[in-house]
Amino acid sequence: MFDLIIIGAGPAGISAAFEAQKLGVNYLVIEKGLIADTVYKYPVGLTVFSTVNELELQENTLHPAREKPTREELLSYYVRFTLENNLNIQTEEEVLSVEKIENNHYSVKSDKGEYETKNILFAIGAMQYPRRLNVPGEDLPKVHHRFIETYPWVKKNALVVGGGNSAGEAALFLAQEGAKSTLATFRKDWEETDPKQGCIKHWVKQPLEKELGKNCLELFFLGRVLEIRENEIVLEDENGEIETLPNDVVFVLIGSDADLTMLENLGVETRKSKYGVVPVYNEETFETNVSGVYVVGHFTEARHIVGAIETPKKIIPKIAEKLLKSAAQV
Ligand SMILES: Cc1cc2nc3c(=O)[nH]c(=O)nc-3n(C[C@H](O)[C@H](O)[C@H](O)COP(=O)(O)OP(=O)(O)OC[C@H]3O[C@@H](n4cnc5c(N)ncnc54)[C@H](O)[C@@H]3O)c2cc1C
Repeated sequence: MFDLIIIGAGPAGISAAFEAQKLGVNYLVIEKGLIADTVYKYPVGLTVFSTVNELELQENTLHPAREKPTREELLSYYVRFTLENNLNIQTEEEVLSVEKIENNHYSVKSDKGEYETKNILFAIGAMQYPRRLNVPGEDLPKVHHRFIETYPWVKKNALVVGGGNSAGEAALFLAQEGAKSTLATFRKDWEETDPKQGCIKHWVKQPLEKELGKNCLELFFLGRVLEIRENEIVLEDENGEIETLPNDVVFVLIGSDADLTMLENLGVETRKSKYGVVPVYNEETFETNVSGVYVVGHFTEARHIVGAIETPKKIIPKIAEKLLKSAAQV
């Protein structure tokens, strides 16, 4: 019987494991992909937007070559941290269900085994379901809901749909490396200047504007995407005019959603927030309405890596304390 099973080894799960280990909590992390799988799936060569202090698990341990780390430096940092601290993480194992046996006693089934635990921490991120346009042609093999790299698309007609940083960065990478790239976005996302909104941040927008001037990149103010065809794409602009563009590849980068099914099956309440549906939890302890079931990271409202790392530092000591108290009562 574990004291704590953590589902997911992103920054949140790694931080939780490190805290649990320090406090002598008997824990296990189960990760369906690789260590820091979401970072692993960032575009190759991407420089992340957060500063070092927001990304590191322990002060003064992340040392990128430039001011901010690349995907590769950050991934290597999280992997090395896990190995050097000998964290108990099982990778390439997917948790399929969690069942409540009684209060503070859960059964966890994965595709490789079955475990029992007193507490369970969901650190599952919010990348499970990339959002779709739901238009004809979206299932064509040339349509991608993630952007990984630019080189297969050199000299090709590439269209990126989206209004956030990921879309802006993909359009920029494609244009800079020789694709004929169009960013199809909504005017309000492009013109939004409030950095708190999910718009394209100024450090992405400035180089994008430069590329626009050089004609490697086109901007299309989108009303909606109507249809994706083998060699073209049909778009409606913000004024209702229909345009058909030659097209070889489409990147739909309009966000993604968490899979809350396991939480919902346990009876965890959810609510709608500006980010989509999120679990309801106590803001101090991050415990849900189901005793012993906790949530942390990107699918809560502490979304960025800094929140994913800092929250476990607050809540794991509380879980450790609760475990000590209940052990003393037995
Ligand atoms: C291109 C890109 C750039 C970004 N840049 C930044 C940035 O500069 N700064 C920033 O703060 N944020 C950035 N983000 C967002 C950042 O990646 C997330 O905030 C961060 O990963 C959240 O950490 P997490 O541990 O909560 O979730 P994740 O890192 O998503 O980890 C969740 C883990 O859970 C695993 N998992 C899910 N379901 C199961 C299951 N059933 N069984 C087992 N394992 C499971 C997943 O495989 C995954 O590894 C960026 C995102 C993208 C896509």
